[in-house]
Amino acid sequence: MPWPESTALLAPLVLWFEEHRRAMPWRHTDLSILHPDPYAVLVSELMLQQTQVATVIPYFQRWMAEFPNLSALAGASDDVVHKAWEGLGYYRRARHLHASAKHIDQQGWPADFESLMQLPGLGPYTAAAMASIAFQWPEPALDGNAFRVLARLLGLEGDPKLQAKTLRPWLRPALEKHGPSRITQGLMELGATLCAPTPNCWRCPLADTCEALRLNATNRIPPVIQRRRPKETEMWLVAIEAEGHWLLREPAEKGLLAGLWTWPRVETAALVRETIAAESALPYTSITLRAWPGWTQIYTHRRESVSPLHLKIMKRFEAPEGCRWIAGTAVDALAFGKRDRRLMELLKGPGSAPLQGPDPLQIIGLIRGDAGRAR
Ligand code: SF4
Repeated sequence: MPWPESTALLAPLVLWFEEHRRAMPWRHTDLSILHPDPYAVLVSELMLQQTQVATVIPYFQRWMAEFPNLSALAGASDDVVHKAWEGLGYYRRARHLHASAKHIDQQGWPADFESLMQLPGLGPYTAAAMASIAFQWPEPALDGNAFRVLARLLGLEGDPKLQAKTLRPWLRPALEKHGPSRITQGLMELGATLCAPTPNCWRCPLADTCEALRLNATNRIPPVIQRRRPKETEMWLVAIEAEGHWLLREPAEKGLLAGLWTWPRVETAALVRETIAAESALPYTSITLRAWPGWTQIYTHRRESVSPLHLKIMKRFEAPEGCRWIAGTAVDALAFGKRDRRLMELLKGPGSAPLQGPDPLQIIGLIRGDAGRAR
């Protein structure tokens, strides 16, 4: 059976959104006109990828105070940008935002949707959200919330994301008739509030025409997609201190923690597996050692059992490749992810615990890259 027209089906959303929308610092009150600050929309959309609204709001406010416009962001250094993003996670978003700001600062805002899609970090969803919310272009933006609402409203079986190519042209007339920004944000808002995984149908403006509600199938539409099991790692996270300096790993260019400074780490399995050259142990006859209870650091596809460790030695050794000794006073200005920031906070406190292993010489040897050589 063909789907009913989106213009009629989504019409009740307009009044509901007008009356029930939550105030957000990037949300403009008049949704009939162009957004007065597309940069604010860009910042909010990048921050909202993977992060909830309540968490984003204080970050957004601090960000806009530090980088009030595109030029301010474009002119900032990578370190300053990463520092401002610190704690929000998924740091690739900060790099994309920074790169986009530089591009727009030089070339101006893209004039069409295709050019918007070329900006770093703007996939089909974020580009469409920018197009509709910032520029009132009728480009349907389908995030997880919108997919859930539409799947239930239309009674779609299976993963609704697989029907994106059909849903977008179906949705476009509703954006043209009721306003791109209004319908885009209305769908997202409904999915975030009433049409949540456990829906609140009795308050929903679309209840009269909702197919999943009619079929009593809101618990299975859309189906829950099983996530991949995260990879598990056990590690020592090690702060080595010598002569008022700390040994840190320089930011990687790619990967989960790209752009961030990290403490050296040693996988617990490596302590069993590797042997250390005798000469690497010699300079460290005086070692002060502290440890604290560990924690589990959870990423989307990874779970780390982290055991924090502080080793204080008398003299610096040559920093291994990819590492650098940083003066204690300079460490605070660097950007760290949550895991590494947590060790930094522990180091400031007095708390320490007696340690049952590991062998500090083996830890240092592994960090120096001496592992595997025969004793
Ligand atoms: S009636 Fe219920 S399931 Fe249907 S769109 Fe509204 S909240 Fe979602």
